[in-house]
Amino acid sequence: MEEGRAERRRRTEAPSCTQGGARRAGIMTDVHRRFLQLLMTHGVLEERGVRRLQKHCYRVHGRTAAVEELEDFINNINSVLESLYIEIKKGATEDDGRPVYALVNLATTPVSKMASDFAENELDLFRKALELIIDSETGFASSTNILNLVDQLKGKKMRKKEAEQVLQKFVQNKWLIEKEGEFTLHSRAILEMEQYIRETYPDAVKTCNICHGLLIQGQSCETCGIRMHLPCVAKYFRSAPEPRCPHCNDYWPHEIPEVFNPDKEREAGTSKANKKPSRSRQH
Ligand SMILES: [Zn+2]
Ligand SMILES: [Zn+2]
Repeated sequence: MEEGRAERRRRTEAPSCTQGGARRAGIMTDVHRRFLQLLMTHGVLEERGVRRLQKHCYRVHGRTAAVEELEDFINNINSVLESLYIEIKKGATEDDGRPVYALVNLATTPVSKMASDFAENELDLFRKALELIIDSETGFASSTNILNLVDQLKGKKMRKKEAEQVLQKFVQNKWLIEKEGEFTLHSRAILEMEQYIRETYPDAVKTCNICHGLLIQGQSCETCGIRMHLPCVAKYFRSAPEPRCPHCNDYWPHEIPEVFNPDKEREAGTSKANKKPSRSRQH
């Protein structure tokens, strides 16, 4: 506790500067507070949902307030959250690069954050699934492989049927994504757990050759083995005459995925439902 306070003091005394320049201490109005509360109940939202939420909060509480740009709005809230070791973090979905925002806890390990919602054996099931996902070539663990580990769980004994329901609970809470009976990490989990995963599985983690972020799903070079996120592949090869590995210059043997394009999105308008990308599992 003592340490926390000292750290907090140090943080408030230090001039808080970001790459963008000096960051003024934020002032939270009812608009910001409502936004934060609602984001908290969602845990993670896509950018379009975040914009909708922001609009909603201005409509309810700030009819006369000047509407802040989303980035300023979020920075403003983050400058207040800083002392609580919580942050609204921006990331992207691994499969198609749609921007997402999640409220993440910087102070505790994610597994202990989840502890209030899940029993010990359920958390251990999550850990087992996480390990299988991290160790896999594809970034996916099959439900069969996860369920085969239920006998090894810490805490109360769990049947396979129960374990299946627990896995669905992880999906509902946006820690896991399920595709055709296989599980991978939700972008919420990646945003929140990147540090934890890097520290816990230093030998198994994969990173993207382009953005250097943690990589769960992606494509890899068949010659030198480097990996890239699908959105990073799409961006990197967008203007290239032919796709060659950024590391060994060998021909890139995978299909270049189609990913989120903010300009196209704008053209399509906001009323149209999100087109689900075809599942890309090339490696
Ligand atoms: Zn990347
Ligand atoms: Zn290569």
